[in-house]
Amino acid sequence: MHNLSRQGFPIILSAPSGAGKTSLCRKVVERHPEIVYSISVTSRPPRPNEKHGQDYHFVSAADFEKMLESDALVEWAMVHDNYYGTPRKDISGQLEQGRDVIMDIDTVGARSVKKTYPQAISIFVIPPSIEALKQRLMSRATDSDEVISKRLNKARLEMEQIGDFDYWLVNDDLNQAIDAVVAIIQAERRRLSRYNKDEIIKII
Ligand code: 5GP
Repeated sequence: MHNLSRQGFPIILSAPSGAGKTSLCRKVVERHPEIVYSISVTSRPPRPNEKHGQDYHFVSAADFEKMLESDALVEWAMVHDNYYGTPRKDISGQLEQGRDVIMDIDTVGARSVKKTYPQAISIFVIPPSIEALKQRLMSRATDSDEVISKRLNKARLEMEQIGDFDYWLVNDDLNQAIDAVVAIIQAERRRLSRYNKDEIIKII
């Protein structure tokens, strides 16, 4: 591919919690290491297998509020009684350098990112069924019954937001879901409006 300069674009993946989008994001980056994974900030306590600075930047609610006051976040949302947000400095710098940034955020955050970065693309990931979603949330064995039922209720509400998104896919087979996300990114990288047309004409 001819390496013409262009701005990077945010790739937003949203899905009900437990639909498997975090592993989907990770696998896409494994296959395409040139894509940057946006590490969110959260006031949620880490799960036993999670690492600070790798899965999330884990902070106190007070520190999160300080970040809000200093406008350090591109977007944020309160999800299941915890704060979640995307650090601004990480994203802007990467996009300016032409790197595409993938982010795993909820539907509220997706709308804010689209407003700030109109070049962003958004993909809604659908779990194979509510039953599968429940199984995944239960197999995590880290959340209480109350948290699981909150997440299932939010899942139903989030499904209703699908009309705000550009693309959708069902995550019933991880490899096929990865292929679909990669195909969408490849097509979006060919979008003419992302380039200077004069540079393209000069290719031949
Ligand atoms: P979990 O606690 O299961 O890791 O994530 C709960 C929800 O928060 C998921 O729907 C996830 O996409 C969302 N989330 C994670 N990081 C962010 C973020 O930076 N901003 C927003 N708006 N949502 C996020």
